[in-house]
Amino acid sequence: MHRFFVDKSLVENNIARITGDDAKHLEKVLRLKAGDTIEVVVGEEHEYLGEIAAMEGNNHQVKLFEHRNIQRESPLNITLYQGLPKSSKMEFIIQKAVELGVARIVPVINKRSVVQLKTSKDQQKKQERWQKIAYEASKQSKRLRIPKITFPVEFNEALNNLSEEVQVVAYEDEKSWGLKDLPFINKNKEPKTLVASIGLWVGPEGGFTQDEIDRIKEKEGYTVALGPRILRTETAGLALIAMMQYESGDLGG
Ligand code: SAM
Repeated sequence: MHRFFVDKSLVENNIARITGDDAKHLEKVLRLKAGDTIEVVVGEEHEYLGEIAAMEGNNHQVKLFEHRNIQRESPLNITLYQGLPKSSKMEFIIQKAVELGVARIVPVINKRSVVQLKTSKDQQKKQERWQKIAYEASKQSKRLRIPKITFPVEFNEALNNLSEEVQVVAYEDEKSWGLKDLPFINKNKEPKTLVASIGLWVGPEGGFTQDEIDRIKEKEGYTVALGPRILRTETAGLALIAMMQYESGDLGG
């Protein structure tokens, strides 16, 4: 069933209004008609079933008839600090990370990032494209929230603006720590006492520099190895997210 996100301001007396690009998509691409049923998420918080009541230009009215109380979001607020990879890999990473339930993605320009988004115009175009991918992935994976994709930031700037309780860095040269060694992962499982928010860091294709690792450690970040094989940047982040979600009770954990 098709899913749409609407702002609270577009709902009155159980009638939600779908406008703009979504209205066009509903009518021209999905070819939906009055009487069809769709899912409507209001204010990235409440999910309803609704029946298309009227279609007028770019402003379709949907009568909400059933509130659905389904817990779709993870208890763990994850920010993925993704070392900016080459070309379209970022689009793949965003799509999969959204499906896995991240709350935010920060594209990080590391020393070894080969992609250089030179002008702010380049960055703005990329951020808009990436945010659209996150929006579509949120619809497809039936999320309540639409993760925020920030503008690309330099490594040091990202490090100076941390907001999560803990930082975990995927680091292939870490010799002693694995995920199970992280002090905030509750061994006896019930109740899961993970932290509420976590930053997960993955390097670009060329990896982190030693200086970058040292600087994250200065901020008390934990470096963990994800086993003995070298994972591609687009694999490492998704594996790390999935394992942390599982440990927090999400993804069936
Ligand atoms: N040093 C790597 C190499 O030899 O190819 C280059 C970096 S790797 C392709 C890209 C990123 O994935 C790394 O910066 C790290 O964040 C993560 N990564 C890959 N394999 C990993 C592993 N076994 N343990 C922890 N992190 C890993």
